[in-house]
Amino acid sequence: LVSRKKKPEDTIVDVKGVKIGDGSQHFIVGPCAVESYEQVAQVAQAAKAQGIKLLRGGAFKPRTSPYDFQGLGLEGLKILKRVGDEFDMAIISEIINPADIETACDYVDVIQIGARNMQNFELLKAAGAVRKPVLLKRGLAATIDEFINAAEYIISQGNDQIILCERGIRTYERATRNTLDISAVPILKKETHLPVFVDVTHSTGRRDLLLPTAKAALAIGADGVMAEVHPDPAVALSDSAQQMDIDMFNEFITELRSHYAYK
Ligand code: PEP
Ligand code: MN
Repeated sequence: LVSRKKKPEDTIVDVKGVKIGDGSQHFIVGPCAVESYEQVAQVAQAAKAQGIKLLRGGAFKPRTSPYDFQGLGLEGLKILKRVGDEFDMAIISEIINPADIETACDYVDVIQIGARNMQNFELLKAAGAVRKPVLLKRGLAATIDEFINAAEYIISQGNDQIILCERGIRTYERATRNTLDISAVPILKKETHLPVFVDVTHSTGRRDLLLPTAKAALAIGADGVMAEVHPDPAVALSDSAQQMDIDMFNEFITELRSHYAYK
């Protein structure tokens, strides 16, 4: 059902009135993890000032180590909803447990399914069963075919509001956290009718590479870019090395705006 052969025209994902997949380009920004109301609100204010309407933040964090910060859980979703309402922004947050999908619908505008859960089939089915857009990230070592099949799990339950997100794959290269597979963007655009985003933060793991990779993503035809922004990355509870602070974020957006016509 996600194949372009079955449906030649682009699917447009409507996120609180923002049309993703119609040829315009968008940004999803926000902290890696929700840490406090003030932290999220500071990023929201900066993003809103740049005309960005899509705000991300993790409440349930799928951490590699069980001893690392696991996120604020439901409290995090409540903070996101409050900030989303106050700033009139759409909220994107990762859900890791199928049992939380229905509750999450009361708090978020887009359900994110993370790389580590791309083949959590019960989670995919649960996200397919609700009427909420889903941002599906490519698995850590998933082929494009496996990625497309994961999206098929969602659409087969009746939910076609899916945004695919390339976020880097595991290779032998250690200079970056993952290897951004930029050619996945045009391949996914050709093979499927779904919008495609590029997460420049998790694919590179390096804040000095966010701008050049975002340029590449927009130039190659991605429907948007996801990037992490934190008021003070040095004290962030997760992904400290790769989040932009507000000044860097403003430069990042200004530079991209001079080249590309995104929304
Ligand atoms: C995230 O976006 O917060 C995240 C954990 O990313 P990924 O699932 O791509 O690692
Ligand atoms: Mn992160």
